[in-house]
This record gives sequence, C-alpha cells and structure tokens, in this order.
Amino acid sequence: MITIKGKSSSKGIAIGRLVKYVKPEATVKREKVSDVEAEVARYETARDTAKEQLQKLYDKALKEVGESGAAIFEVHQMMLEDEDYNDSIYNMIRTDAVNAEFAVAKTGENFSEMFAGMDDEYFAARATDVKDISERIVSVLAGVAGSLDMSEPVILMAEDLAPSETVQMDKSKLLAFVTRLGSANSHTAILARTMGIPSMVEVDIQDDWDGKMTIVDGNTATIYIDPTEEVMVKMEALKAEETKQKQLLLELKGKENVTLDGTKVNLYANIGNVGDVAAVLANDAGGIGLFRSEFLYLGTDNYPSEEDQFNAYRTVAQNMAGKKVIIRTLDIGADKQVDYFQLDKEDNPAMGLRAIRICLERPAIFKTQLRALLRASAFGNISIMFPMIISVEEVKKIKGILEEVKAELREANVAFKEDIEIGIMIETPASVMISDLLAEEVDFFSIGTNDLTQYTLAIDRQNAKLEPFYNPHHEAILRMINMVIQNGHKGGAWVGICGELGADPELTRRFMEMGIDELSVSPSLILGLRKSIREMDLKG
Ligand code: PEP
Ligand code: MG
Repeated sequence: MITIKGKSSSKGIAIGRLVKYVKPEATVKREKVSDVEAEVARYETARDTAKEQLQKLYDKALKEVGESGAAIFEVHQMMLEDEDYNDSIYNMIRTDAVNAEFAVAKTGENFSEMFAGMDDEYFAARATDVKDISERIVSVLAGVAGSLDMSEPVILMAEDLAPSETVQMDKSKLLAFVTRLGSANSHTAILARTMGIPSMVEVDIQDDWDGKMTIVDGNTATIYIDPTEEVMVKMEALKAEETKQKQLLLELKGKENVTLDGTKVNLYANIGNVGDVAAVLANDAGGIGLFRSEFLYLGTDNYPSEEDQFNAYRTVAQNMAGKKVIIRTLDIGADKQVDYFQLDKEDNPAMGLRAIRICLERPAIFKTQLRALLRASAFGNISIMFPMIISVEEVKKIKGILEEVKAELREANVAFKEDIEIGIMIETPASVMISDLLAEEVDFFSIGTNDLTQYTLAIDRQNAKLEPFYNPHHEAILRMINMVIQNGHKGGAWVGICGELGADPELTRRFMEMGIDELSVSPSLILGLRKSIREMDLKG
C-alpha cells in the first residue's frame, strides 16, 4: 500500500479504480513508415473510433442542450466521411510514406486554411470544424482518448484539469478527482464540490498508479493506493458512517433556515449546468443563488445559440418551480478560456479582458444572452446578475443595453418578466468601496469572495504556491463583507454571498450577525449549513 498526502479541495471519501487522464498531444511529429497499407488501416480504425465518440457526444448533447446544440457533432461525423479529406490523407500516407498522425494533422491544417480563406460565411466557419475532427483522430491515434476508460465509475488522476475538460466528463462515472497541479480555489475544484465528490490537488501522482484500487479521503487529504485489507475495512466503515450522516441530514429537508433566536436566512445553491438542478432539489435549496452560465460556453466549439441558452435557462427555471434562480451573465477569462472567442493572449488574464468587460466590448454576444434570459423569465422566477463590476457607469451601461433588449422583445410581442430583478457581483475592492452608490442601481448584491479575496490580497487564486497566503478569513475581507451588507441594506438592496466563503462553517455565525440575507453554496453543503444555523443562538 502507498499512502500519500495532498491538499483537499472537496471533502468526502471515494473508493474505486484510479484512471489516468492524459491531455491530447499538441504536437505531431513526421515519421517515416515502412508499411503504408498498415498505416492506412491504422488511420481507418482511428477514424471509426472518432465517429463512435462523436455519436456518443451527439446523444449526450441532445439530452443536455437539445437538437441545435447537438447538431455540430452530426456535422463532424459527416466531415469524417468527406471524400476529398480522406483522399488527401490516403495520398499523403501512400506517396510520402508518413505516419497517419502527420497525414491527418497536415490535411486538417490544409483544409482549415482553405476554408478560412473562403468568402462564404458557412465555409469559413468549417475551418474550426475540420481542425477539430483532425485533432480528434490524432488523439485516438496517439492512444489518448482510449486511455480514459470510464465504462465504470472511476477516480480520475491528472496533471491538471481545465474547467472546459471537467464539464465535458460524464459526471455519473466520476468518484473523485486527484491532480498534481490546480488549487482549491480553481473552478475545477468548485465543480467537484458542486458534484459533491471528493477531490485533491497537489498530489505527487505516479504513472504506475493507473488502474490501481484506490481510496481518496478528502477529509484528511490522504490517498491510499492498493490499500491493505485493514485500511479498506476501516475506510469502508468511515464511508458508511459518512453516508449515514448524509441520510440524517435529509431529515432537515423542508425545515426552515432559522436560528434558535428566530433569525432567518436564505440558503441557495450554486450550479454550473442544467444537470445540477437535480442536486439542488435533492438537497432542498431555497433557490439558485449562482448559475455560472459561462459553463454553457465551455466545452463546445462555437457560441451557444439564443435558442440553446433559452432552453437551458427555461428548463432550470421550470424545474425550480417558482423558486428564485439567479443567472449570472457570461464570466469567461482567467482560468475559463474559450478558444472560439479568440481573445488575445494576456500576461495577466485574471485582471484582463474578462466577464462583463467582454460583454460590453462585444454587445452582440451580450444581447443574445440577455434575450435568452428575458425570454426564459416568462417561465419562472429568474433574476439576472452581472459579474466583475467596478463602477456605477458600467451598471448604467448594462441597464441601458438590457432596456434595449426589452424594447426589442416588446416590439416583437415576446413575453418576458418586465420587472425582472437585477443584481451585481461584488468581487472587486472598487465595488465594495462604492457599494453605497451601487445599491441605488440594483435590487441585490452577491459577494464573490473567491475573486474578492484574490483582488484584495493581491493573490492569484489559481496559483497553488500562494495558497499559504490566500486567507479569506483576513480581517480586510470580513470588514469588506460587513460594509457591503450595511451599504446594501441602506440602499434597499438585499445581500448574499455566493463565493466559497459562504459555506465556511467557521464564519456562518459572523455573517448572520452582520445581517446577511442569503448564502449560496454547493448543493451538497446546504443541509449541513441548515443544521448549524438551526443550532445557533445569536443572542446566546
Ligand atoms: C467569486 O468570485 O467568488 C465567484 C462566485 O465567482 P467565480 O468563482 O465563478 O469567479
Ligand atoms: Mg468571480
């Protein structure tokens, strides 16, 4: 048995087989082959595997985002059959006696350049697609795609995981994440918490662990590879106890979030996609306090259409049946990179063109999202929230654009909620300092403590080396939160916290004393938080 320590980024115990996830190789080498027909056969097998993968992705997308979102995978399957594309690959392998990887990558590049140069918009858009399918075949040839065997639930081990990779994974097959890199404040760790599965970062992972029976104990930040019988029995008992405690918490479903002295608070849930609503309902959240809508833009290769977004927002609102659903507009940038936005490379993306700044620079993208949100507001209790605000002018500009979209919808006789609630994230020190002025402009504030900590303490939340310095309990942060709550209330805005600090049991009492109105946390943490609130006496 190997016992190793790391850093826990999501609590809980998982027991299962460890599987290594390898990122697709970016560079392809040109190699001479002696048996060209064998190479052709290798290509054809890989192409068939790629086709099967695309069919699976099509079925998954059809279920999760609907027909128009799934259509791209059908297009990709058709492109794999394209005669010119295939002939080019066959020719290159046979004439130049090169390896299949090189022939596919080179053909992909050539076709992509050719499409990109076309005047016709439709064909120009195919440039990315042909690159995509070529990369897929190359990954299969390199054995990358095949190395992630997730036919049964597994513990995933990786050097690092980007949010765009994590959202594409089949969540029903994941028991836990273990990575060498990454930080507990990254969006991948947040996703693990939303999914309610254990995760650990800063683990010195080894290749030969691949396929081994493993226990991840996110409570003590320990991993056991090939556990002994004794450890297995002990950990199974702890896991059973954990399950029992979770069962006991279920008895709190339907109960109020009220302290012994009668102070109430709303407990809402944070989600990243439509599928997370099941966990929100199972854990009896009073609403959704943060729907990170940018996850609809990650893991796809083109902008989600207004229709796709409308379907996603409407489904969430309908499933929440009148409970509040706060949807945050697109917050990409920093660790959430989306290639098709073609943003310039920045030295400091966390302080770069991100979130609302992109929306204000590219109003067409913003307006598409606002239209989808407003249309969905006719089907439930939707509020819209804007991220990364730093000024009153920005909020006024946003409100102006929102009014334009409302006017267009009115003109077209499309139903939406006229008095839709709007709020902003307070996650920059600037917005804290002017929260008295901002409160006049909006209905609510939601404090994003993840970024607020990063920008206040000048600590990159992604940088694992800085974690010893990343102290969200810093008095500066707590004073800021108090200031925002008091200013919000004076200006008639309610105030919540949707950053990870909202779920910190050591601070719940302090937030309640400050007069917080809402805490929005991972769905799996709702009932535990309800329990501690119900046992709390603010007068005692
Ligand atoms: C935050 O910054 O606290 C927040 C909730 O937003 P995100 O983690 O998605 O940046
Ligand atoms: Mg943030």
